[in-house]
Amino acid sequence: MNFQIHLTILIIACFFALPISAQITSEAEREMTKPVEPFRVIANVYYVGTNDVASYLITSDEGHIMIDSGFEETVPLIEASVKKLGFDLRDVKILLNNHEHYDHCGGLATLREKTGAKLLAVKEQAEVLARGGSNDFRFGGKQIFRPVAADKRIIHGEVIALGENKLITIRTPGHTKGATTWTMRVRDGDRDLEVIFLSSLSNLDYDLVSNEKYPEIGTDFESTFEILLELKPDVFLGSHAGFFRMGKKFEMLKLAPKENPFIDLEGYRNFVERMRDDFRQKLETQKKAAEEK
Ligand SMILES: [Zn+2]
Repeated sequence: MNFQIHLTILIIACFFALPISAQITSEAEREMTKPVEPFRVIANVYYVGTNDVASYLITSDEGHIMIDSGFEETVPLIEASVKKLGFDLRDVKILLNNHEHYDHCGGLATLREKTGAKLLAVKEQAEVLARGGSNDFRFGGKQIFRPVAADKRIIHGEVIALGENKLITIRTPGHTKGATTWTMRVRDGDRDLEVIFLSSLSNLDYDLVSNEKYPEIGTDFESTFEILLELKPDVFLGSHAGFFRMGKKFEMLKLAPKENPFIDLEGYRNFVERMRDDFRQKLETQKKAAEEK
C-alpha cells in the first residue's frame, strides 16, 4: 500500500474511529484487517497477520514466540493462519507486543488464554496493557481494549530466549511510552541474517513540545531514531505491513527469486529516516508556533 494512504488510514483508525473496545468499527480499520495468506518470511519467521496489521510467529522445537495479536477480532484469523502453516497455537510459549495500541494488542488477552503463553512487556507497556489503555497518554481516560497482565517485565537489552531463538529487546519509545522493537539472528542456508521487528514510529497528532502527559516525548523520539539508525538489520519487518511493503515483497517471494525480497537494509533505513524527518519537521513547526504565542 502507498505510504501516504497507509499513514492516512492509520491516522483515521487511531483518531476518528476510536472504539469503546478493541473492536473493528470503521471502514479504515476494515481496510487494514483483511485476511491474507500466511507465509514463511525467512528461516523460522512467519507472517500470520492481516493485510496490514502484522503478527509474527517465530518457531522452534521448544515452542514458539508470537509478536502482536492485532485487534480482538484478528485472533481467529491468526489462529487459522498458524494452523494453515502446520503449527499449533498452543505451542506459543511467549507473547510480545510491539506497542500498546488496540490495533496491535487488542487480542492479547484472548491469545494469552488460548495459548497459556507468558506475556512479556516493558514496564511502560505493561502498565497500559494492564488497564486496557485507559492510562495511555493519548487515548487515556477510558478502557479501549481488554486488559491483560504481563507475566514478566523486560528491559532494554534483555535477551528473550526460546529454543534456538534469541530476541534482543530494544526500547523505542515515542509513538507510545512502551513501544518496543526486537532484533534476532536467523540461519538462512549457510549464512546468518539479522531480522528486525520494528515498532511504530509515527508522531500522529501528538503535542511534541509541551506534552504534560508525556514530557519526554521529544527526547524519546530523538533517541529512538538514533538507536534505530545505528542498526543494520538485513531483514526488515515491522508492526504494519505498509512500513516494509509486504504485499509487493510477498508477490516477489512467490516467484522464487534468487534473493529473498524481505532482505532490505536500504528500505529499513529509508523508512526510519523518513519517520525521523517527519518528526523533526513537526517538532520545528510546533516550536515556532509555541514561540509565536
Ligand atoms: Zn499505534
